[in-house]
Amino acid sequence: MRNECNIIRDILPLYAEDMVSDDTVSFVEEHLQTCAECSVMCERIKEGGIVMINENKSTEQEVVNTLKKLRKKVFKRFCIIVLAICIGIVGLLATLQVFPVYRVFQYSSKDDFVNENKIMLAYIGTPGDRKIATDIVNYASIHVFSDTSHTYEENLEFYGELGRYPFDLNYFDGTIGELNALYETHSIELLSAHIDENHGYMFVEHSQQAIGENGEVVAGSWDILSLWEIEKDADGNWKVVSIREGA
Ligand SMILES: [Zn+2]
Repeated sequence: MRNECNIIRDILPLYAEDMVSDDTVSFVEEHLQTCAECSVMCERIKEGGIVMINENKSTEQEVVNTLKKLRKKVFKRFCIIVLAICIGIVGLLATLQVFPVYRVFQYSSKDDFVNENKIMLAYIGTPGDRKIATDIVNYASIHVFSDTSHTYEENLEFYGELGRYPFDLNYFDGTIGELNALYETHSIELLSAHIDENHGYMFVEHSQQAIGENGEVVAGSWDILSLWEIEKDADGNWKVVSIREGA
C-alpha cells in the first residue's frame, strides 16, 4: 500500500458523502483509476457507509436518551432526598419549639432548682397554661418592671413577690450611693407554663437595665432564669406567690 493510499482512505468516507472540494474529488478519482484496492474500498464504503453511519447515529441517540433518563431519575431521587431532609429539619425544629429539651442542658449549671424542675423546662406547656402565664408576664412587664417611682418596700407591698424586680430610679443610699438612672428597659420571656386548677409554675428568663443620662447602663441584670410559683386567689386572679432564681 502506497503512502497516498493512506491519505485517500482517510478521505474516502467524506468523498463517498460528497463532502469534499472539487480539487479533492479530482485527486481521489485520479488515484482510484490507478489503485484497485482503494477502488474496492470506495465501493464498500458507498454500499454500506450510510447504513453504518445511521447505525452509529441511532446508537448515539440511544445512549443520549438513556443518559437523559438516568439524569432525570437521579435528579428526581435527589429532589426527594432534599425534600425529605427539609421535612425532617422542619419537623425537628417544630418539635423543639414545643419540647425544647436543649434548655435542660442549657440551664443545668444555673442552680439545683433547675434540676429539680427540669421536666418543666423540657415542655413549654399547653396553650391554655401558656395563655394564663403570658397574661402574668404581660402584667409584670407593663405594670411592675416599668414602675420606677417607688421604693423597694413600697413595691413589695404593691406587687407582692414581683415587687423585688422594679428599679427605684430615685434610689439614694449614703453608703452605696445614688442610682443615677433616667429610665429602665427590660425583657421577659416565658419559657414554660405548667398550671393546675388553682396552682402552677412558670419558667421565665428576664433582663433589665437602668440607663443613665448619657445612655450608659448604670445597673442591670441579664438572662436571669426564674421559676415563678403562681396561685389563683378567691377572686379568680393569678398571683405570683414565690420566686426562685438561678445563680
Ligand atoms: Zn490506493
